[in-house]
Amino acid sequence: MNNISFLDLKLAPEILRAVTETGYTTPTPIQAQAIPLVLEGCDLMAGAQTGTGKTAAFVLPMLQKLMPFASASPSPARHPVRALVLVPTRELAIQVEASVKTYAKHSHLRSLVVFGGVDIKTQTPHLRGGVEILVATPGRLLDHIEQKSVQLNQVQMLVLDEADRMLDMGFMPDLKRILALLPKQRQNLMFSATFSNEIKRLSSEFLVDPKLIEVARSNATSANVTQKVYLVGHGEKHDLLAQLLRGDDAKQALVFTKTKLTASRIARQLQREGFAADAIHGDKSQLERMQALDAFKSGKVTVLIATDVAARGLDIDQLPMVINYEIPSAAEDYVHRIGRTGRAGAFGNAISLVSPDEEKYLAEIEKLIKCQIERAEPLPPVKPVVRPVERPVERHAPRADYPVRSHTPHHSVSKRPVHDAWFNKPYEPSVSTQVKETPLVVQSVKPVSQIPALFMRRKPAESNE
Ligand code: AMP
Repeated sequence: MNNISFLDLKLAPEILRAVTETGYTTPTPIQAQAIPLVLEGCDLMAGAQTGTGKTAAFVLPMLQKLMPFASASPSPARHPVRALVLVPTRELAIQVEASVKTYAKHSHLRSLVVFGGVDIKTQTPHLRGGVEILVATPGRLLDHIEQKSVQLNQVQMLVLDEADRMLDMGFMPDLKRILALLPKQRQNLMFSATFSNEIKRLSSEFLVDPKLIEVARSNATSANVTQKVYLVGHGEKHDLLAQLLRGDDAKQALVFTKTKLTASRIARQLQREGFAADAIHGDKSQLERMQALDAFKSGKVTVLIATDVAARGLDIDQLPMVINYEIPSAAEDYVHRIGRTGRAGAFGNAISLVSPDEEKYLAEIEKLIKCQIERAEPLPPVKPVVRPVERPVERHAPRADYPVRSHTPHHSVSKRPVHDAWFNKPYEPSVSTQVKETPLVVQSVKPVSQIPALFMRRKPAESNE
């Protein structure tokens, strides 16, 4: 830990005031290290992931350096783009720009966020109006460059945030095109959670004599998060998930899957079962993703199924539960995923459903976090349910003693479909079922561990995101 306070960082009073208003008193380690270096004008290669306070680590010194250019003039010419922040996803773009706005609110510095998936025409007038700080996803920025709605010849600071994700998502060609359009004389900051060879190559290409800082990777998981693993077959996962979501701890849950297809499939199935569920992933339109996120944040949607990429930048306080429907093959992603719960002093649950083929990843995770995750006992059987037996005879020809179209209510019962939504709910016989002719069968739903292997063969065969 460090003993530096924000006062020691020599930030302008306008910026300090905004920081104080957010309630932060002490810089995080990445902030304490990065801010002085950026203020000195160094290029920076910073190893830090979401949750470390990395956004303020570049935004605060960026604002400080741009303060001399702040102008109250309405003229666009007085507000050229001076700092460009490139990010891989729309969610992160929105989040970063919201931070910029928060910290810049007592200055005349302007900021804007542009990302794809929304009508470009809605962004153009704002861009033409002039902004000092532009946060953008690479593809949409290139669109604006082509349409000549933005000039980048005054950029003096470039930030590549989550550079590793940008490379993962195939943004390298776009990045190169953008970098070629920037003034040679500029300060460059690169933030990345990992230091792959590709990242090192990228940094050697565009950073000049960079200072390297790396905050201790937060591979330690929070003590506020209770972690559990259920060892289950693939085919058991959905039933177990539904059972967990019905529990008291799961008032709101973020469910992670590896692939977009799985995320969509689970969301659809849960919706059919009566859950307020939705999915976010790269195939959804920007509008759909924003709507799903807003609905989740407001509590209208209680189960959000997300892929790692789509969940980047998703920042929800007080999230009680994270469920790994599939555990990630990269152990660091596990730490990142479960860090979404148990924030700000709150308690959280992180549950992982691990099938036999995933146990090797579980071992990697446990090695990384240096502890063995508790293996949970199979859940007890859900309450006995009473299900009416369908009378096949009524599907065909109505019999005289069971007139299907009768207006007397008791005959309607055997036509009632037995579907998933109420399969696991205690069955409350209504008036229409209390007739002596209608046979009833009392069944106990088996715990998932007792479902015969025959039903566990479903194999996910989806492409990775
Ligand atoms: P980031 O890594 O930038 O996504 O930030 C993670 C979280 O830490 C965000 O919710 C920030 O608002 C919060 N945060 C950033 N800086 C500080 C600080 N100095 N003290 C407390 N919280 C902070």
